[in-house]
Amino acid sequence: MDFSPASDFASRLDARDPLAGYRSRFAIPDPDLVYLDGNSLGRLTLAAAERLRQAVEDQWGRELIRGYNQDWWQAPGRIGEKIAPLIGAAPGQVIASDTVSINLFKLAAAALELRPGRTKIITDTLNFPSDLYILQGLVRLLSRSQGEGRGGQHAILRIGSRDGDVTPDLDALAAALDAQTALVTLSHVTFKSGYLYDMAAITELAHRSGALVIWDLSHAVGAVTIELDTCNADFAVGCTYKYLNGGPGAPAFLYVREALQEQVVSPIWGWWGQQKPFAFGLDYVPAPGVTRFLSGSQPIMSLLAMETALAPLLEAGMPALRTKSLMLSEYLISLADTLLAPLGFSLGSPRDPARRGSHVSLRHPEGYRINRALIEELNLIPDFREPDNLRLGLTPLYTSFSEVWEGIDRIRRAVEEKRYEKYSPDKLTVT
Ligand SMILES: *Cc1c(COP(=O)(O)O)cnc(C)c1O
Repeated sequence: MDFSPASDFASRLDARDPLAGYRSRFAIPDPDLVYLDGNSLGRLTLAAAERLRQAVEDQWGRELIRGYNQDWWQAPGRIGEKIAPLIGAAPGQVIASDTVSINLFKLAAAALELRPGRTKIITDTLNFPSDLYILQGLVRLLSRSQGEGRGGQHAILRIGSRDGDVTPDLDALAAALDAQTALVTLSHVTFKSGYLYDMAAITELAHRSGALVIWDLSHAVGAVTIELDTCNADFAVGCTYKYLNGGPGAPAFLYVREALQEQVVSPIWGWWGQQKPFAFGLDYVPAPGVTRFLSGSQPIMSLLAMETALAPLLEAGMPALRTKSLMLSEYLISLADTLLAPLGFSLGSPRDPARRGSHVSLRHPEGYRINRALIEELNLIPDFREPDNLRLGLTPLYTSFSEVWEGIDRIRRAVEEKRYEKYSPDKLTVT
């Protein structure tokens, strides 16, 4: 460790950090590792590791099928209620289930059915590609099943961006909303630049033209303050393996505003979303409320681990998490401005903290090879997103200010010492 004045400053920030103690609740087997990828896969909590062991050995191993009558069957709804305070949702509106992609499919289909005759779906080019693919597949399915002359085909309009793909073109979004618009669906925090949409303003704008809104909270939940109820949001989906530290492939969640719940129909009918699953009736009757969006068996072990991982987030509370997240990202950007800008880096995220999530992208023409050198030689894990973004995720529960300082210093070394030059520009499967 280099104890320059800058890292002294980082240690002083750590000493005054009210959330510093939470780091000890995570598995940190390699203290030298600078992990700035919690926005792709959060660290493992010690409690979740223990919960998994117990669920496997004591419940699955000993109780077997009886586990469903203990705490398995209710897990999607129970865990939904725990996620609710993190996203500003009153009880009865959230379930944990499936993947973000599948939940988006279910909610988008349900939303379009609530707006018959309207054919326009608005999203943006900054959205996560899987969300776009889901919409494209849904539009194809609807056009094949609707045939000709049943109100016309749905079309997806992608709003473009400004400032080199950092911010969406909000004027274009406002201009596109019209009486044909059925649905607007956007990522609250965009995955590459970390742009944070003004949820209240965009939701209101969409509602003024009669459209419904689905917010994808994947890069926002656990990182920024979210007020779904206050914003009058209609629907939301979100991911739990990023800032919620739920574990690889942990189930996602979905939110349906209470007032819409009895009007909406899931496009995937299954027994977990049936009113009386164990009556085994031969015809589908939707369960009351948001439960109708369940379809089949859920990954119970993953659900239980994720449930346990939520505890420290709920204890810390979103206001403290957001405050620290902003301090981390402001500190990182100030270090990048002084130490990395002279080496060819530029900021690929909004400068305005009010419009930024909890990750920061630094752009460099050699971004990919620098990312490789950092992982292979410098024990720093960021990630890379095309075309030139080195993405640095800041997780307020366990990222320290010293880690940020050390991370920026290692990036400086990767470039100054030209360590990246020995790596091939050919991409690995997962970047
Ligand atoms: C991570 C992420 C997803 C992940 O989708 P899965 O189907 O759960 O793999 C979806 N949307 C956004 C915006 C994401 O950031």
